[in-house]
Amino acid sequence: MAIVTANVRIAGRPLRRAFVEHTGPAGVGSLGWDLTDENGSFTFDAGFLADKVDIRVYCHNSVLRVLDGGFPIPTPVHQVIGGVANGDTKEIPQQRDFYRILATSLDVYDTVWRQFRPFNRDGRGDFPLGRKDTVLETFEKARRIELSYPDLSPAPRAWVEPAALNNGNFPLVHIKHRDSDGRLFGEGDSEVADHDPSLLPHELGHAFHFAVQTTTTRQSLEAQFAGFILTHLSDPTHQIDKKTVPAVAFIEVAGHFSERFFFFRKRVEPQLSGEDVRRAFFRDELRTQSLRNELIDPYFTVGTQTGTVVTPVLTGPDSEAAVYGAIYLDFARRVGLREAVGLVLDSNASTFAEFKQHVAGRGNESWRTAIGAVATTWGM
Ligand SMILES: [Zn+2]
Repeated sequence: MAIVTANVRIAGRPLRRAFVEHTGPAGVGSLGWDLTDENGSFTFDAGFLADKVDIRVYCHNSVLRVLDGGFPIPTPVHQVIGGVANGDTKEIPQQRDFYRILATSLDVYDTVWRQFRPFNRDGRGDFPLGRKDTVLETFEKARRIELSYPDLSPAPRAWVEPAALNNGNFPLVHIKHRDSDGRLFGEGDSEVADHDPSLLPHELGHAFHFAVQTTTTRQSLEAQFAGFILTHLSDPTHQIDKKTVPAVAFIEVAGHFSERFFFFRKRVEPQLSGEDVRRAFFRDELRTQSLRNELIDPYFTVGTQTGTVVTPVLTGPDSEAAVYGAIYLDFARRVGLREAVGLVLDSNASTFAEFKQHVAGRGNESWRTAIGAVATTWGM
């Protein structure tokens, strides 16, 4: 018997925490399951007289599953790789864009969301929605977030369903083809010569936020957001400096926070982690705005801090800039970013008013004072 330990890579990077199946010849039959580790490494027993294995690598990791949206019913993606020997490093041979999306989505989770409750609790961690006892059971039965690419729906841009019927009422992310949205991989498109790769950091922020809300809230938002998409076809990007309605503003800012924190950690303070990077983030966003110089796409300053005084650029619960600044910067500087985001995820809120009510009802006097001051400053 020969033990085969080998690595899978996508675009030269380890394919981390992805499901791999040990198959019979030509992908027929199932001989075992593994999950790649942080190095993209897996191990199978090749069996008596054999020293190589055939494997099926699923476009599905501990964070989400990618579907090929180019069919009437979006279909799971996988690749069969034959003749893998001990010590081999195998690059995903085809459908590589799907696996790049998979790997980046996991990076967004690890870089931004995993440090906040409930994701940082026992039973989550690697798996934002939890896992089952075995790899196979987790693959088949655990709750998960899904992503469909390329999205062929009438929506002009990427969008996220909070409660997708065919995903057990959990989120489904819809991503347009890379040629029509250069934000996917950080490249040019028909509109702009070059972009930051901001699309997945933004849209996955929505997915992780929705994923911890109640089913009732997700279904309610599903109805509202479907309406929003259809009624804003000519102005689909609901930008941070434009007025909208309070529910859209509150939901949108989870995407803005996710995108900004991701790039702050990657480009501004890559050596920091934990409490240090969380504190550096809101301080920089209010005082220095380093991202303005680090990003290719336009950056909007939502407020500035001089001494202890914060001055908003825009105000009101219908302004994405104001709601973002109020919660993820100003409330965060008062109670800590970990607490601020944890309270957003706990709150099941859909507007700033509901969030404020949740915080005030928690019986913590300093939080109540903080959210009151923030609401006054930002005109909520
Ligand atoms: Zn968004």
